[in-house]
Amino acid sequence: MFSKFEPYRIKTVEPIPLTTRENRQKYLEEVAFNPNCLKANQVTIDLMSDSGTNALSCKQWSAMMQADESYAGADSFYTFETTVKKITGFPFIVPVHQGRAAEKILFKVILSETQVAYSNGFFDTNRVHILQNKVKAINIDTEAESCDFMGNIDCRKLEEMLAKDDQKVGVVVMTITNGEKGGWPVSIANIKEVAAICRKHNVLFYADACRFAENSWFIKTRENGFRDKTPSQIALEMFNEFDGCIISAKKDGICNIGGVFATRQRDVFEKFSQECILAEGHITYGGLAGRDLEAIAVGLTEALDEHYLQHRIEMVQEFGRMLELNGATILEPGGHAIFVDADKALPHIPRNQHPAWALTCAIYVEGGIRAFEYGNIKFGYKDENGKELYRHPEFVRLAISRRVYTMSHLKYVAEVFGKVIQNASKVRGLTIVRSPSFLRLFTIEMKEV
Ligand SMILES: *Cc1c(COP(=O)(O)O)cnc(C)c1O
Repeated sequence: MFSKFEPYRIKTVEPIPLTTRENRQKYLEEVAFNPNCLKANQVTIDLMSDSGTNALSCKQWSAMMQADESYAGADSFYTFETTVKKITGFPFIVPVHQGRAAEKILFKVILSETQVAYSNGFFDTNRVHILQNKVKAINIDTEAESCDFMGNIDCRKLEEMLAKDDQKVGVVVMTITNGEKGGWPVSIANIKEVAAICRKHNVLFYADACRFAENSWFIKTRENGFRDKTPSQIALEMFNEFDGCIISAKKDGICNIGGVFATRQRDVFEKFSQECILAEGHITYGGLAGRDLEAIAVGLTEALDEHYLQHRIEMVQEFGRMLELNGATILEPGGHAIFVDADKALPHIPRNQHPAWALTCAIYVEGGIRAFEYGNIKFGYKDENGKELYRHPEFVRLAISRRVYTMSHLKYVAEVFGKVIQNASKVRGLTIVRSPSFLRLFTIEMKEV
């Protein structure tokens, strides 16, 4: 077989910052050992997030030049609306400035106090927005050790919960792919089964569909009966099962900003529209410029291109294999990121000295790479007395922006991990110096022990 290659060539280039180890050590000390506080120009390969960090295509740029910036009813809105309708099949479409704006309004509109909401894995902001409505947000995982669709919901458990008290359930949210759980996919079979359970109990079923295109590719390549369908056909079949969805255009919209709310419920659409006008702006722009709406319309379409998707998913899987070859233990690769096990990489660092945080610092100093801690700083479980429980596994997430880095960049990243793991005993643990009360990982201050 021939070598795999990117299904695009590069028309505009952006130099990446190159720094010395000495400087990186100094930069890290200046930000109190919090890589999230580094300036982007101090980072050589930035794998902190795949959100809004994507490269636009020449088609997106040219559509942006032709955008209509009228206050209301702009051509660009109708281009956007037509595209989203075609991709999702939902009749009512509203743009928003990013995914979380749609969540905030949707949950306010559909939930009421003392209800509960269930999911295969609530994204951070989803959970907090739900809690703000005094509604409990509960995850129902699968227990599958290893299968092709580890993002699925355990239908038996869900059925049990709904049978017990369906009056109390405000919504079931299916996150596709399951971002907080390794970026793992959800099967159509599971979506259909959950949809049937929700219909039976008269409970709303919404999708948090930020990575719907990546999920469609997993279905095409892994689920029986889908090999001959296009990602677009699969996406439509998926969306058909839901009452509506939110999408962050910063993920599979392949954009830098933007979001989508789509629904088949006229009453929800009308209430959503009122709130949207107040918080985001007129419902034909939703906090976005006309050019953003154009870029999203093209981006959502490009995200469903088979060659693009095949390369994207295979690149992430291949990156996982390279990390393993360099001695890293990883979670089963998902669609947008690789999660490296830091307990295994740095076995001499105890949980109360934050091995995953230490690993993010070490790969920055070694190779100028920025990654995101997915351990006990981010999740921060505490008991009633405020004592840290260190209950979450210690992972480092390496998120891959769309169309930004090539395989050579990722090969370099894997090699840097190899070197850090080989010299693991030199890496020091860290303790907390100062911490804000929530979402602490963005501003926390640490020191080496
Ligand atoms: C990013 C993301 C969101 C929020 O979208 P933003 O555009 O960042 O506000 C919600 N859910 C999931 C699964 C996401 O990945």
